[in-house]
Amino acid sequence: MKPTISSSMVLAVHEWSARFPWLWHGFSTRAGGVSAVYSQDAQSCDLNLGLTAEDDPACVGENRLRLAERVSGLRGTPLVGIRQIHSGASVTLRRNQALWSEAPQADGILSDQPGVLLAVQTADCIPVLVVDGNQRVVAAFHAGWRGTVQRIVEQGIAQMRSEFGSQPEHLVAAIGPGIGACCYAVGEELVERFTQQFTYAEHLVQRTEAGTQMLDLTEANRRQLLATGIDAGQITTVGGCTCCQPQRFFSHRGQLGRTGRMMSVVGIAHTTGI
Ligand SMILES: [Zn+2]
Repeated sequence: MKPTISSSMVLAVHEWSARFPWLWHGFSTRAGGVSAVYSQDAQSCDLNLGLTAEDDPACVGENRLRLAERVSGLRGTPLVGIRQIHSGASVTLRRNQALWSEAPQADGILSDQPGVLLAVQTADCIPVLVVDGNQRVVAAFHAGWRGTVQRIVEQGIAQMRSEFGSQPEHLVAAIGPGIGACCYAVGEELVERFTQQFTYAEHLVQRTEAGTQMLDLTEANRRQLLATGIDAGQITTVGGCTCCQPQRFFSHRGQLGRTGRMMSVVGIAHTTGI
């Protein structure tokens, strides 16, 4: 699946909007916010969604309200985040469970609770959203190289299966904007880790003429989605490389560590009966 709608602020999977009227989802870009601190010119402000050292928390708060409103129609829809630690662990928020007062440490979050947006933050790492259209369960994952090696996406989907009975034929997935193989030069040690972990590692690493090894984290996570049994046609890739497109996205590597965060969100609308 390739066609997607792009608005300036949020990227979405067009087919999902038509197919799942009860679903909220989107991948933010840097457009549409009020943060001035990472601005590339005097005129534009950014949609920084991370409480970074440089930005004003009041700006981040306003940006988060804007994202919630754009995706769900309501500024007040809670964004349920996690404290991302580059692990292979996911947490589950149950339907009637109260929202956490303190974000749990994890890199994936799954839920069947309506009325909230599950959120992961990235700025080069790969965000992955998964939807079980049959059980109405949603999940968001954060996969940098460490999480990818620890199979965050594969394990998270196994958790959807064990906790909610999700079957692969009912799952759809979208891989959001992250650093592409075009920009992600990595060292030998990292290549070695991927080689030890994945039988398909040779398809994830390209060697340039100069001998630099480029890692394709998007493909690595697409392979993990396929390994869970999701049909290739149900996996959409949205947005492209964060590092190549500094006007559209924040990039940790591209902006040498001083950058904002994008948020990828997914949720089940309150509305019943659709
Ligand atoms: Zn690139």
